[in-house]
Amino acid sequence: MARITDLLAHGRTFSFEFFPPKSDAAQLSLGRAIAELETLSPSFVSVTYGAGGSTRERTRDLVTWMRRETRISPMAHLTCVGHTHDDIAELLGSYTEAGIENILALGGDSPTDPADMRPSDYTYALDLVEHLREADNFSIGVAAHPEGHPRSESRKADRYFLAEKLDRADFAITQFFFEAHHYVALVEEMAALGINKPIIPGIMPVTNRGQVQRMAELSGAAFPEALAKKLIDVEDPEEVRRIGVDAATELCTELLSAGAPGLHFYTLNRSTATREIYANLDLPVAL
Ligand code: FAD
Repeated sequence: MARITDLLAHGRTFSFEFFPPKSDAAQLSLGRAIAELETLSPSFVSVTYGAGGSTRERTRDLVTWMRRETRISPMAHLTCVGHTHDDIAELLGSYTEAGIENILALGGDSPTDPADMRPSDYTYALDLVEHLREADNFSIGVAAHPEGHPRSESRKADRYFLAEKLDRADFAITQFFFEAHHYVALVEEMAALGINKPIIPGIMPVTNRGQVQRMAELSGAAFPEALAKKLIDVEDPEEVRRIGVDAATELCTELLSAGAPGLHFYTLNRSTATREIYANLDLPVAL
C-alpha cells in the first residue's frame, strides 16, 4: 500500500475514481469493473463520498474492502457537509485502523434531500485539511477546478483560495474538463501564486452524450463546440463511445506532453472506456 505523496514523488500516477454502488446489481457491475481495471495496475483508486448517512458508510466499507482484498491503494473522499469534529475524528480513527493512508478533502455540495441536512463544523475544504494535518498520518489531496468553481465569486478569488488550500495539502485532483489549455492555465496560475504541488488532471471520457453534457453544466466545464458537433447526429451508442474515447485520448496526450504528474479517470464504475484510452496511450499494464 502506498501514500499518494510518495507515488507522485517517484513518477506519474494513473488512477481511477469509483462511487459506492446503491444496489446489488450495481455492486456486481462495480466488482467487474474493479477486477478488469486492477489488471492495469493503477497507482491508486479513489471512492467518492455522498451527502446521506448510508452512502457515507458505503464509502468506508468499499475503501476498507479494497484495502483488504485487492492490490490497489485506495483513497477515501471526505466532505465538510454535515460533519462535526467528532464525526470526522471517528472516521479518521477507523481509516487509520484499516490502514487507509490517503484522503481527498472536499467541500461537498449541500444535500438535495432535506432529510440529509445536518449541522457542520466545517465550511471549506481547507478546514478539513487542517483537521487532517493534525492527525498527521494521511497523504492529503484536494479538489481543483480548472475553469473556476461554479459558486466562486470570481476566478481570481477561486485561484487564491485554491492556492491557500493546496499549500496545506499534498496534491490536487481536478474537476473534469475537455480542453488541455484549461489545465495548463490552472498550473501556471498556481505557480504564479507560489504553489508548485502536483495537480493531477481529472479525465471524463464522453460515453453517453446527454449524461456528460449534464454533468459538465453542473460542474461548470465548457463542452467544446467541436466535440458537440461531432456527436450531434450520432445515434449509435458505440459510435458515441468511440468518438468520446478518441477525444479523451487526445486530451490525455496533450496533458502528458504539458507535464501533468498523472491522469485520474472518472470511470462512472465502468471499465471499457478507461481500458481503451489506456491501450491508445500505450500505458504500462501488468502482465
Ligand atoms: P472548497 O475548497 O471548500 O471551495 C468551495 C467554494 O468556496 C469555491 O468556490 C471556493 O473558491 C470558495 N472558498 C474556499 N475557501 C474560501 C474562503 N475562505 N472564503 C470564501 N470562499 C472560499 N463532492 C462530493 O460530495 N463527494 C465527493 O466524493 C466528491 N469528489 C470530488 C472529487 C474531485 C476530484 C472533485 C474535483 C470534486 C469532487 N466533489 C465531490 C465535488 C465537490 O465537493 C464540489 O465541487 C464542491 O462544490 C466544492 O468542493 P471543494 O473541495 O473545491 O470546496
